[in-house]
Amino acid sequence: MHEHAPSAVDETTLRKAVIHAGLETNRRGLNQGTSGNISVRLGDGMLITPSGVAYEALQPEDLVFVNGEGRWDPDRKPSSEWHFHRAILQARPDLGAVIHVHSVYASVVAIQGLDIPALHYMVAAAGGNSIRCAPYATFGTEALSQRAVEAMRDRTACLLANHGMIAAGPDLAQALWLTEEVELLARQYVLSLQIGGPQLLDDAEMERVLEKFRHYGPQRDDAPSGSD
Ligand code: 13P
Ligand code: ZN
Repeated sequence: MHEHAPSAVDETTLRKAVIHAGLETNRRGLNQGTSGNISVRLGDGMLITPSGVAYEALQPEDLVFVNGEGRWDPDRKPSSEWHFHRAILQARPDLGAVIHVHSVYASVVAIQGLDIPALHYMVAAAGGNSIRCAPYATFGTEALSQRAVEAMRDRTACLLANHGMIAAGPDLAQALWLTEEVELLARQYVLSLQIGGPQLLDDAEMERVLEKFRHYGPQRDDAPSGSD
């Protein structure tokens, strides 16, 4: 446990939630083996999965706390992708959890270096009219981190060329939900390319969908009631 934790109980719960999210990515067919990594904001830094350990083998104490300056206990080894996890959480106060996977269809689209265009209204779930593909950079580098942050400008997900995808959210549950949605969109894209290519939604329609998404979902008790 780390001194930056709000309380030991909260931090233990968070550590278990990260492992649960990792196991879910595997169970849902979004990830396998030692691929992928997950982080969640904690204090001025983040908790992140360790490098090269399968989620099935993880214990709560194995997660690594990386502080705001990018330092950690030297006896630990955070995910090789700690650069982009930290950079995304620092650049985006709206986000609290980041999931990276090598899911098959997102990786296939990223292998072509393609953005996912507005082929389905659910593309707006990632915040815009496309899901960008960040240009290739070697895994675990600062260059990849910069490209990922840029590709996620005004978005909560991106593809990584010849690699996989990143999906993020205010919390782990929403990041996991978006991971699965992006993989489904990539699959729809690959399949539609096989039967002539997608008919895309235009920018005006995607704007309407984005506006509806701002009010979509269960209303909070304290939220004013709307008309649609
Ligand atoms: P880590 O095991 O270091 O998290 O690396 C997995 C990965 O997906 C690298 O991009
Ligand atoms: Zn990876």
